[in-house]
Amino acid sequence: MPVLVCDAGATRIKFGIVDNGQVLAHDSIPSRSEGPLAMRLPDLAAALRGICRMNDVPLESVRGISMSVPSIVDVRTGRILAEYGRFRDMPTLDLRAWAREEFGKPLAIENDARMACIGEWRAGAGRGCDNMVMITLGTGLGVSAVMEGRLVRGVHGQAGILGGHITVKYGGTPCPCGSIGCAESEASSKVLAAVARAHPAFPGSALAREELLDFAAVFRTAAAGDACGLAVREHSLQVWSSLAVSLIHVYDPELFVIGGGIMASADVILPAVRSYVERHANTPWGKVTIVPTALGDTAALVAGEWLLQDQFPQ
Ligand SMILES: [Zn+2]
Repeated sequence: MPVLVCDAGATRIKFGIVDNGQVLAHDSIPSRSEGPLAMRLPDLAAALRGICRMNDVPLESVRGISMSVPSIVDVRTGRILAEYGRFRDMPTLDLRAWAREEFGKPLAIENDARMACIGEWRAGAGRGCDNMVMITLGTGLGVSAVMEGRLVRGVHGQAGILGGHITVKYGGTPCPCGSIGCAESEASSKVLAAVARAHPAFPGSALAREELLDFAAVFRTAAAGDACGLAVREHSLQVWSSLAVSLIHVYDPELFVIGGGIMASADVILPAVRSYVERHANTPWGKVTIVPTALGDTAALVAGEWLLQDQFPQ
């Protein structure tokens, strides 16, 4: 039976129809996540009805809805436990009640990094693998893990997904999460401009003249030999690589999957992380395989079927 899926990201709410492991159709609407999620629900409901209509999938045939959000979720109650400056009303919403009233369907809900990991585990780079860690390099650093064939959730739903908040720099940059020197507060898209501007070579750097100071600009200027670009690239690679070593020491994976928008520069990132991990991870049994995602942006959508079955078994 088809499942409707939505992935409420910071800039776009992606949605689609998944059936038998295949994304039949997908699209997106703007998130406007600086405002409340409740304000976006009428548009999302209309978009879900629209995509069903356009693809000849009658709503009566849909089994339910799966949704991923950028927060910690209590999967037993379906309630969102926190907000991090986006969709600030999330902890007040009962999305299961919304889905019931709007569509008469059950709604499964999960953290977005964990959803992407589920997608890669069930149908992507981690297919057939019982022990994997996935990290998403983007606005923040999303982490999730599968151990011994089970998704790691923890008693409060936060196990694994705070992996981007492992301390990689003692006494480093304070992080909005409350900790100091987190991987995410040292090297992610949201802190990149501050990291670059703090470098002494920034005023004379090509980066100072970039309209959009993103990782694409950093990798481009570094490749051209720009001193600040090279320093920021090296700093970021070191942060992600040391985080990878810590995650490998914590979870004992066979497979380490890296995704996210910054992986547009996978040709530089993958060899750097692999080489660092080979030198510094303690894995006397052998070598962790480090690969890019297979599903990219659609991983969280593909996970929708598994999640619905997990939270509403049939
Ligand atoms: Zn943090």
